[in-house]
Amino acid sequence: ILEARGIHKHFGALHVLKGVDLVVAERELVFVIGPSGSGKSTLLRCCNRLETPSAGTVVVDGIDLLDRRTDINAARRRIGMVFQQFNLYPHMTAKGNVMLALRKVAGKTRAEAEEIALEALARVGLADKADAYPLELSGGQQQRVAIARAIALEPRVMLFDEPTSALDPELVGSVLSVMRSLREGGMTMVVVSHEMGFARAAADRVVFMDHGVVVEEGTPEQIFGAPREERTRAFLRQLD
Ligand code: ATP
Ligand code: MG
Repeated sequence: ILEARGIHKHFGALHVLKGVDLVVAERELVFVIGPSGSGKSTLLRCCNRLETPSAGTVVVDGIDLLDRRTDINAARRRIGMVFQQFNLYPHMTAKGNVMLALRKVAGKTRAEAEEIALEALARVGLADKADAYPLELSGGQQQRVAIARAIALEPRVMLFDEPTSALDPELVGSVLSVMRSLREGGMTMVVVSHEMGFARAAADRVVFMDHGVVVEEGTPEQIFGAPREERTRAFLRQLD
């Protein structure tokens, strides 16, 4: 459902992605791990064209993202993205934040947007916080609002870039459990995260990146239990 092939990205003289393939099947949960600066965020951003690759192809749900004729905003609607920073509007309630995307991006009426927003908030366990403002919510709750905002648009694939990295440890679990339930609901997901326990428990496939290339990929059992490459072993060693 997501096919990124031969992706290169240069920032000036910096060659950040050096021919990366990321192919994700429907309902698959792919975990991307690797050292800081290895290009994980840049790869995700290339997958919804927040960055334009220097070379390569990205096809999402049959739509060629790099084709000039593609309506990029229509295509982006099929791709949900959740970042480390939740980027909620502070002057709008949880419900208001979710509704805004539905009205602006999906062209829903106020009544439709409200109904869908409440349903999305219920799916992330925040039915009772619909009228709360971001400052009245914990970091974990704010991140769940950001997830509700993304899933309300019914994306075909969700990209998560370190969704729990900005959270206090005790709040991480609530966000991971929402992600687990999305997965159980059949959502296709690409997750950049350092939550290796979650990767072991929930990922279908783990991709290890270093210096702009995919060094190796495999099942969590294989990558965590029997990594083939020395670079993977070194990375995993310094985590514990
Ligand atoms: P982290 O684990 O720290 O989030 P990452 O694997 O996500 O790292 P990227 O954010 O993709 O890494 O960055 C890869 C490299 O590209 C880094 O050297 C970074 O400084 C560089 N880079 C990223 N975005 C830009 C940009 N907009 N302009 C210039 N350089 C950039
Ligand atoms: Mg990053």
